[in-house]
Amino acid sequence: MTNKISRAKNFIEEIIEKDLEEGYVKEVYTRFPPEPNGYLHIGHAKAICLNFGIKEKYNGKCNLRFDDTNPETESEEYVNAIKEDIKWLGFKWDKECYASDYFEQLYEWAIILIKKGLAYVCDLSPEEVSAMRGTPTVPATPSPYRNRSVEENLDLFIRMKNGEFPDGSRTLRAKIDLASPNMHMRDPVLYRIKHMTHHRTGNKWCIYPTYDFAHGQSDYIEGITHSICTLEFEVHRPLYEWLLEAIGLPHPRPKQIEFARLNLSYTVMSKRKLLKLVQDKYVFGWDDPRMPTICGLRRRGFTPESIRKFAEIVGVAKRENVIQLELLEHCVREDLNQKAIRIMAVLNPLKVVITNLPQNYEEELEAINNPEDPTAGTRKIKFTNEIFIERDDFLENPPKDFYRLYLNNEVRLRYAYIIKCNEIVKDNNGNIVELRCTIDPASRGGKSPDGRKIKSTIHWVSAKYYVPCEVRLYDKLFKSEVPDEKENFIEDINPNSLTIVTGYVEEYVKNVKPYEHYQFERIGYFVVDPDTTSDKIVFNRTVTLKDDYAKKLKKTQ
Ligand code: ATP
Ligand code: MG
Repeated sequence: MTNKISRAKNFIEEIIEKDLEEGYVKEVYTRFPPEPNGYLHIGHAKAICLNFGIKEKYNGKCNLRFDDTNPETESEEYVNAIKEDIKWLGFKWDKECYASDYFEQLYEWAIILIKKGLAYVCDLSPEEVSAMRGTPTVPATPSPYRNRSVEENLDLFIRMKNGEFPDGSRTLRAKIDLASPNMHMRDPVLYRIKHMTHHRTGNKWCIYPTYDFAHGQSDYIEGITHSICTLEFEVHRPLYEWLLEAIGLPHPRPKQIEFARLNLSYTVMSKRKLLKLVQDKYVFGWDDPRMPTICGLRRRGFTPESIRKFAEIVGVAKRENVIQLELLEHCVREDLNQKAIRIMAVLNPLKVVITNLPQNYEEELEAINNPEDPTAGTRKIKFTNEIFIERDDFLENPPKDFYRLYLNNEVRLRYAYIIKCNEIVKDNNGNIVELRCTIDPASRGGKSPDGRKIKSTIHWVSAKYYVPCEVRLYDKLFKSEVPDEKENFIEDINPNSLTIVTGYVEEYVKNVKPYEHYQFERIGYFVVDPDTTSDKIVFNRTVTLKDDYAKKLKKTQ
């Protein structure tokens, strides 16, 4: 990977440095707070890199906190997957926390609010509350239960907790300001009744705190100094601060800071939509290599370094925008260029018979494993009198600017010889089935013996020593740049997002292991898929070698 990019401080770092300088905080403490209701995606990776990046930069701390307040959609499976993904990205949390660990404390704080007359039990249904909530300029109609006595509220809330009432029959609401232009301040719900088994607390609770009541208080309990979240929570901030104040929690209190969520072109990111893709089998699972999930990206061949680099380049912004997928691909190309061993693979083979070599001719040639990394060494590849080349590298009627193989033209075979095509062999239907060529023996190893110019070098594999592999070629999962803008994002799915071919790969491939990265010379970067077995090797194409992002950059310079 190229050197660290030097950049100006972002607005979050400015706030933090000021707080450190002024002594408002002694040590920076952040957290990453996923809800365990799905797998993490590249947007979460952005938030992870940001929170853990701050910990690293300021020598502070960062917790992993599961925001597990909605038992119906959460599970242990998601908890484990989230932990694995964060570790894979290369980050270590200081503490593993769960909002559910604070249920007792949160309950006690709710009691405090009730005793202070700042919360009440309300018997309205969500529909009734919604019908009475007013508009930003018209105040909400007060709930008929708003002026219940402290005693009645305490009694009802305790009975809510004891399981005396059915789901949805009552809520605990904060008593704030029904005329506030901020709808979140119009007596927001703090607790709901849900008779449901929680993946950690089991059946201990049947009332669950809302996000708003759990989040800021959890931050407080953990001593979080800067609670970084996405912009949609900006309107929740007054409530976040109101609750800390209303409960009467001493300073220093956590500070909520919002940044723009990451959007990536040609994909969707909401967990609800990703879940639909999985449940309705538009993809093979959460880790389908076309998914923007971290496990999908990992299976596609992205590296932690490439994702971290991507997050760094994207930076943090105050306004939402859509980041081009090409940038992410550019980052993985740059990383794999340094790391991936080059091998030769032919994905659409055309047989070449070399007529000036004897039948069953074979010899070993030396190939360089990675020109970017001398320590990667060299390997032996087998050259035989029959080989395969890529069908696209030959044209019967070449245009003027075609420099690869055509009748009577010469090209260089990578690491091998200069060959010349002398004859095209066709079947009865006129399809080209074979080329008959001669090599120049003096060009062994790819030399130009008499200094003659050979314009192209093409890849090849021995027709005797190759391994057929399943090669999965991926394209974008959606047809339009911003599928979220479509009325029905499902209709925007690209029907050709996966093509499977049999690739003829040099024998080196016999020893590969899942998740290893390779460059198929001249084609792209590929990763070994975990579907690989002892008798079938499966590759996923991570990206082609064509860097559209670098091209775009050039154009704008
Ligand atoms: P989704 O909308 O996909 O369901 P979410 O925001 O509900 O996501 P959480 O599990 O609550 O998912 O998110 C954990 C953290 O990740 C939050 O702090 C959230 O703000 C952040 N986050 C989620 N999506 C993005 C994104 N696209 N870009 C940056 N941060 C994100
Ligand atoms: Mg959320």
